[in-house]
Amino acid sequence: MPSARLLLVEDEPGLQLALSDRLAAEGYAVETAGDGDTAIRRAGGEPFDLIVLDVMLPGRDGFEVARALRQQGVKTPILMLTARSQVVDRVVGLKLGADDYLTKPFDTMELLARLEALLRRAPATSGVALERYQFGEVVVDVRKAEVTKAAEPLELSAKEFQLLRYFIENRGTTLSREKLLQDVWGYTAMPSTRTVDVHVAWLRQKLEPNPRAPQYILTVHGMGYKFAG
Ligand code: CA
Repeated sequence: MPSARLLLVEDEPGLQLALSDRLAAEGYAVETAGDGDTAIRRAGGEPFDLIVLDVMLPGRDGFEVARALRQQGVKTPILMLTARSQVVDRVVGLKLGADDYLTKPFDTMELLARLEALLRRAPATSGVALERYQFGEVVVDVRKAEVTKAAEPLELSAKEFQLLRYFIENRGTTLSREKLLQDVWGYTAMPSTRTVDVHVAWLRQKLEPNPRAPQYILTVHGMGYKFAG
């Protein structure tokens, strides 16, 4: 993915150096910021294709940075780096506008795969951003990552929400299980495409008026799935 501009926000000098070297070696044009205020100023004023954002930063933390950028209308995909002890914060991070997250310590190959997935997805999200989408009784607030059905809040896991958002962004298009796995899960190391079927079943259970006879998330036999909301 050559010459994509990436802003790496990390205060730990050793990790910042190691990561920026590695990302540059992969062809990214890497800029760095060591604190939240610098990150907000740079990402708010310059075009970036990707932001890698550490949660633990001096001053304003990664969550505040993500929220501030989204409030400014910056739609650059954000991948958040969290510590293992911050598992609870993952969903919060997504709600604040991060697009994906990775728990430290992480494998560099995994990071690269996630970044590529975000870049592939970027055209759908960075153009005219979809903020709110409605089908049937379901209302999806894309920015807040909130879903309601008949005005009642629905609890979706982060992955279910990402899958739903992907369906909405690609509505009317038949999507193979492999394509969904690659673009929504972001890497190809998943055990099987059965994962996709399971998540589709869960989404149907939550969203469809009659999950046994889906009218929004349709099965296209021998092909995959198609969102018809
Ligand atoms: Ca840090």
